[in-house]
Amino acid sequence: MKAHDGMYIGGQWRPAAGHDTIAVVNPTDEQVLAHVPAGTAEDVDAAVRAARAAFPAWAATPPAARAAKIAALRDVLVARAEEIAETVTAELGSPLALSRTVHAGVPVLVAGSYAELAASYSFEEKIGNSTVLLEPVGVVGAITPWNYPLHQVVAKVAPALAAGCTVVLKPAEDTPLTAQLFAEATHEAGLPTGVFNLVTGLGPVAGQALAEHEDVDLVSFTGSTAVGRQIGATAGAAVKRVALELGGKSANVILPSADLAKAVNVGIANVMSNSGQTCSAWTRMLVHRDQYDEAVALAAAAVAKYVPGERVGPLVNARQRDRVRGYIDKGVAEGARLVAGGSDAPHEKGYYVSPTVFADVTPDMAIAQEEIFGPVVSVLRYEDEEDALRIANGTVYGLAGAVWAGEEAEAVAFARRMDTGQVDINGGRFNPLAPFGGYKQSGVGRELGPHGLSEYLQTKSLQF
Ligand code: NAP
Ligand code: MG
Repeated sequence: MKAHDGMYIGGQWRPAAGHDTIAVVNPTDEQVLAHVPAGTAEDVDAAVRAARAAFPAWAATPPAARAAKIAALRDVLVARAEEIAETVTAELGSPLALSRTVHAGVPVLVAGSYAELAASYSFEEKIGNSTVLLEPVGVVGAITPWNYPLHQVVAKVAPALAAGCTVVLKPAEDTPLTAQLFAEATHEAGLPTGVFNLVTGLGPVAGQALAEHEDVDLVSFTGSTAVGRQIGATAGAAVKRVALELGGKSANVILPSADLAKAVNVGIANVMSNSGQTCSAWTRMLVHRDQYDEAVALAAAAVAKYVPGERVGPLVNARQRDRVRGYIDKGVAEGARLVAGGSDAPHEKGYYVSPTVFADVTPDMAIAQEEIFGPVVSVLRYEDEEDALRIANGTVYGLAGAVWAGEEAEAVAFARRMDTGQVDINGGRFNPLAPFGGYKQSGVGRELGPHGLSEYLQTKSLQF
């Protein structure tokens, strides 16, 4: 893997202000892949200055011309898709097939959607005797996690660019190589100098400096609730815009009329994908008591197909592996019944965790309330539909979910009563234009599509 030893600031790779580096580790074999610079507040300041200097001209660039640059960026992502997939696999550990279809593929769809939106979006509207101008917010500080290393970046940078904002990105310390590749792609696409800038580094150093920088107008963060809370508080104190995409504990609600086998199989696949490291994963499976034993047996059979090292990769690092294994031990201690997997390491090398299914999980258990972020599914029993709704809505989170029923209308009626930002009906397909984001403590703001674009705009009304 090629690694840069500098920061991408003002259109060039520049030496970092300090000398500290971060070792990037391959989670499948625990070998060091590369080192990247650990940025400081000084690097962040240089990047924010570059983004500020580039802002007026980029904001004044006609939307159609911004759209053309985003389309060029998408084309580079297409041309370098294999390199992207291999880089994600190396630093995240995901199987190459998943890296190709999801980690390299989805960002192409999202960048493409914003190339189209930038060209077609109405940045001006008439309301009575007013003309309302939708103007870019300014300089964006983007802080991203490691679970979808390129998607999380593109889901922030593409709409920011479409809106006319300029960006400083601080990617996760575990996956900086994909971010460096993205910076190369912006350069190759011919984005004007300073419109996109990259500072690699540690969260409490570079991330915090970016979130606190007084010349950043909007902080867009995806990651843990603990850090999100802190970033929200900092932004609030400075009266600046903030978007937070935090955790989830989503429910997969299987109503009695559903195709049970399909709902269970798709539900297990949803959690096992990306080793369970997906904020919107349906980690709680809710099944009617009359179908409970059958569903548990189906879930145990389904999970057997997910062999660590084959269809399931490792977790991203040793800390995440230990955290997930700790939750599995906690589930056992709380009295849940292990029907597949467990906390024993399936391999000697690599940060693997066995795909795990718990039965007899009650709604108050930690494994039913807290985000585990690993390949662990809890199957919960409900008495009737009202009970299912109470359980589904009974966490602090509200990011995603699923409902399965014989008739679509029955599933939709249930979905309307769920306190959550996104629901898949009978296994609905991914839509890169659908707003994504949380109710309750799952976050503030939305990503993707036109709703994601509006996060980066502010209004000015002219009265006539
Ligand atoms: P995290 O610490 O919140 O990391 C997210 C991003 O924020 C990273 O770029 C991180 O940098 C940065 N960061 C950390 N501390 C910061 C600070 N004080 N100020 C500014 N930025 C800061 O998340 P994590 O440690 O990688 O994962 C922990 C848990 O978060 C997971 O187990 C999971 O529950 C949750 N999570 C959720 C999502 C999601 O998509 N919603 C994604 C990942 C993780 P570093 O990389 O240097 O830490
Ligand atoms: Mg962290």
